[in-house]
Order: sequence, then structure tokens, then C-alpha cells
Amino acid sequence: MPASTFHPAPTDFVHCMRRLHASLLVTRFATFLMAWFATPPATRLKPPLAALLAPRLAGFPALPALTVFATFCALALPAGAAHAQAEPLVQAQALRQVSAHVHIVPDASVPLVPNVGLVVGERAILVVDTGLGPRNGAQVAALAQKLGAPPRALYLVTTHFHPEHDLGAQAFPADTKMIRSLEQQKDIAEFGLQLAKIFAQRSAINAQLLEGAQFRPADISFDAEHRLDLGGVTVRLIAMGANHTRGDTAIWVEGDRVLFSGDVAMRPQPAFASPYSSLSHWLASLDRMQALQPALIVPSHGPTGGAELIEGYRGYLTEIRDRAQAARQAGQGADEAARTITEAMGARYPDRGRLNGAALAGYRELK
Ligand SMILES: [Zn+2]
Repeated sequence: MPASTFHPAPTDFVHCMRRLHASLLVTRFATFLMAWFATPPATRLKPPLAALLAPRLAGFPALPALTVFATFCALALPAGAAHAQAEPLVQAQALRQVSAHVHIVPDASVPLVPNVGLVVGERAILVVDTGLGPRNGAQVAALAQKLGAPPRALYLVTTHFHPEHDLGAQAFPADTKMIRSLEQQKDIAEFGLQLAKIFAQRSAINAQLLEGAQFRPADISFDAEHRLDLGGVTVRLIAMGANHTRGDTAIWVEGDRVLFSGDVAMRPQPAFASPYSSLSHWLASLDRMQALQPALIVPSHGPTGGAELIEGYRGYLTEIRDRAQAARQAGQGADEAARTITEAMGARYPDRGRLNGAALAGYRELK
């Protein structure tokens, strides 16, 4: 599979900071050159370095081209670079319609922001994922109102219980119907706000957004699948089992052939985020998603796409499984196998923590 389709994971802080640093240097250089050329020679500022360079640069014919090149470099740097500073806020103004009934607010690949979905039927609206904390949840609830709830009834489902997907739910109107799989409720009961506390410690804005955040209890619970008729459009909520989390929920908008895949198929590297996460189960989940033949996949993070999102994950997980098998046959224990696999694949998949987690799960499950 094309490894280049993977973005570094949002949690890869060091990587992001390195790219941010590189981005800032290039941007500063480009800004300096552009300002220098845009200013009439007589009024050009001459800080020590510019004063030193100016006479040498003045007659250099390639400089305008260099400026263009530097600007291009600054703009072409991966979007993630700029996001190291971005606040985890849902950008409600970015709302766009992607099919007859589905609207989304793209995350712009900002860490701790999900792709938010709104499925609009004649009688009801289903919201998929809330954003991090009540302030984001209120923004998303306002979008549902803008799209017609009320008078339409409002339903809410989350792709999994992690804070940026789920902990804005309390800001939704009291008559919103929260739908959860039984497995998702088990995740909440077992792990609660653990991850929210970790996120809150990472930055002041996270702490502020998550202040007082609580899980909203389910109004409707389901085991394997729940069908929801929104009026003119039917949606299937499917409990996917333990992939990224035990309570992963996929949302299949039947007529539109749009699949909200959660963290089960996306561009960023997969995260085995639960002690229940299973590599073999994850591969089976990808088969289930592929069988739906979605026209559009809206993952819970990163760009939307098609079957290549599923194929990307399949290639990654299959390679890890096969390498784990080979490592065990070569007599390696779990930790050594994970190190070998991370070493072999690290150049193509930059998040070594996630590689390690997947490798350990893969090894553990060998028969
Ligand atoms: Zn998650």
C-alpha cells in the first residue's frame, strides 16, 4: 500500500514540533525576501544581516525565483506543521454538504478535533461526534438547529467514547436522543474520564474546554446494530467491536452510501487505544466496511476518501501480522518482535508508538 497516504498521527508531538520549526524558518525567510523585494530600494530596512547581504544579493538574478520557491516551500509544508499551535475547536463555518443528506464539518486535520457529521432527514437529524467539551458541543448543536432541529427531532451518536468525539454531548438540548452501543457504554463505565484528564493536562485550552465535561447517558441503547429512519433517509448504526476502542461505532447512511468509519479506517496511522483492541478483529472490521461499498468515507479524523482508506489500513495491519508471525518463528519474544517490526516499518509509518502498540497486539494474537 502507498505508505505516503499516512499522515503522522496527531499525537506525534515531537514530529509536529520539528515540522513547525522547519515551517517557521522557511516562512520567516520567505517573508523577509518578499518584504525586501516589495520595498523600494531607498526605503528598505537594513538590519545587520540584511545590510550585510544586500550588496551581494542585489545583482543576483535568481533571487525573485528563489523568493517564489521559498514561498512555495512554506505553503507546501504539510498542513500538520501549522496545527501544532491550532486550538481544538470545531470550525462551524466550514460546514459543507457532501451528499444528498449528509453535511460535515471537516477537522482540517487539527489534533483533538473530529470530523463532525450531520445527517438531515425530513423528520430528524442525526449528529455524529460532538467535538472536545461542551463549548464545541454547543457549536455543533447550533449547526443542527441551523439545519432544522427543531422542528426536526435531534439524535446524537459518537464514533467512540474518546473526549473529542463524545464529551460535547452535554451541551446538546435536553430533548436530544443519545444513542450508544452497549460496548460503548462498557467503555465509559470502565475507563470514564481517564483520557479527558490526560488531555486536560496537555494544555490550558484543553483544560478549559473539558472543564465540567461528563458523559451523557444513553437514551437508546443497542447491541449489534440500530436502524434509524430520519425521514427519507435511513441510517444504520453498527457496533464494530474492539478496534480502536471496544465501543467503535460506524454510521452507514444507506441511500447516500456515505460511511462514517470512526477511527477504524482513516488516513492517520491506526491507534490501538484500548486493552481490548484486536488486530485480527480490526482486519475483519475492514472487510465489513468494504462490503458496504461506500461511495464516500468520512473518517473521524483526517481527510475524507474512498476504498483507499480501508486498503491503507488493511495493508498496514496485514504487514504487521505477517511480520509478527515471522518474528515469532525466528524465536523472538513479544517485545523484541515489536522492536524489530517498528524498526522495519518506522521509515514508512512515522508514529513509532502506534507501530509498537499494533505489533504487540499482533504478536499477542498469533495462534
Ligand atoms: Zn479515539
